[in-house]
Amino acid sequence: MTPVDRPLWPGATIGVLGGGQLGRMMAVAARRMGYRVVVLDPSARCPTAQVCDGVVVGALDDVEAARRLAAQVDVITLDTEHVPADVLDALEAITPVRPAASVLRTIQDRLVQKQFLDKLGLPQTAWAPADAAGLAKVGRPAIVKVRRAGYDGKGQVRLEADHADAQLARLGSEPAVVEAVVPFVREISVILARGMRGEIRIYPIAENTHRRHILHTTRAPAPMPPAERARAEEIAVTVAEALGHVGVMAVEMFELADGRLLVNEIAPRTHNSGHYTYGACVTSQFEQHIRAVCGLPLGDPRALSPAVMVNLIGDLWAGGPPSWRPVLERPEARLHLYGKDAPAPGRKMGHVVLLDADTDRALATAEHLIERLTSRT
Ligand code: AMP
Repeated sequence: MTPVDRPLWPGATIGVLGGGQLGRMMAVAARRMGYRVVVLDPSARCPTAQVCDGVVVGALDDVEAARRLAAQVDVITLDTEHVPADVLDALEAITPVRPAASVLRTIQDRLVQKQFLDKLGLPQTAWAPADAAGLAKVGRPAIVKVRRAGYDGKGQVRLEADHADAQLARLGSEPAVVEAVVPFVREISVILARGMRGEIRIYPIAENTHRRHILHTTRAPAPMPPAERARAEEIAVTVAEALGHVGVMAVEMFELADGRLLVNEIAPRTHNSGHYTYGACVTSQFEQHIRAVCGLPLGDPRALSPAVMVNLIGDLWAGGPPSWRPVLERPEARLHLYGKDAPAPGRKMGHVVLLDADTDRALATAEHLIERLTSRT
C-alpha cells in the first residue's frame, strides 16, 4: 500500500470543492465520524461552511485559493463536477483528489461523456455534436444541451418538429450536443459507491419524477423485475469501473416501454436522487462517500425502510418562509433545510424524506405536503 493509499482515519481533514447542499450533508456525516472538514466556496456563508471547520473563500476556478485548501487537508473531494479539471490536476500534485481529475475530465463535457458511453457499448439515445450535420442527423423532436456546466435543465433547448433553428440562439455560441427526445415511461437512477480497492456497494434503485427539469420526487426501491434491476446495476458498475471512480456515483437512466434502459447522464458524486439514503439506509450516500474517499471499508447500503423524497424548491418561499408544521407533525417525515439565505424560483432549498412501507401512499403524502406548503394551510 503506497502512502497515498493508506486509509485516512477519523481525525484526518477532508477538503471539499464547492459548498452546496451535497457538501453540507457530507460534512455533517464526516464530522459525526470525527473528521475535520474545510470547504472552498465563493461564499463564506454557503450551506457547507455553516457546518464545517474552516472555509477558504474563492471561486472554484481559482487555482491559488484551491492550493490554499489543499495545503490544509489530507484528501480533496467535491460537491460539484464543475470544477475545472486543470485545477484538479494542480491539486493532485499536492494531495489526493477523489474522484480523480481524469474522472472529471470524462464527465464534465457531455460530448466526452457520450463518447465514453459509446465506447463501452452502453445504450443511450441517438446523439451528435450540435452542428448543422448533427442537427440534421438526429432530427426532431430533439434536445440541445450545452457541453459544459448545465444542470437541472439549464443550458437546454427542446426543438419541436415545427420549430425553426432560431430557437438555438437561446444557447448562444456555446458548444453543445443534440440528442433525440426519449419516449421514456419512467426515469430511474442507480446510486453506488466504489472504494479505493475497487469494491462496490449498490443502493436500492431510485425511481424519479421531474418538474420543470428539476427532480421532484424519488421513490426507493423502484418497483422493478429482478432482471431489469440487474441490468441497471450492471450498467452502473460498468461505468464506475471503466472510469476508475472512487466515491459515490449516480447513473441516471430512461426506461422505455419494452423495459430497455438508456443512460441519460452520469454524476461522479453524491446525488439528489440518493438523498433518501440519509434516513432510510444503514449508511447514507454521504457517509459512504466519505468512507470511499478516505479508503475506509464501505458501509452497508441496505434500506431499513422504503422511502420517498420530495424536493423543496425556492418557489415555496414566494410569500416568505413556509410554516413547517405540516411536515414536522408527521412521524414518518424528516425535514432537511440547506441554510440557503436567498430562496429563488427553481433553487433547491431542502427536501423531505418520508419513511413508509407503502411508497404509493408516501408519494401521495409528498404531494399533499407540497400542496399544504404552497397554500400555507
Ligand atoms: P438532464 O439535465 O440532462 O439530466 O435533463 C433533466 C431532465 O430533462 C431529465 O431528467 C429528463 O426528465 C429530461 N430530459 C433530458 N434529456 C432528455 C431526452 N433526451 N429525452 C427526454 N427527456 C429528457
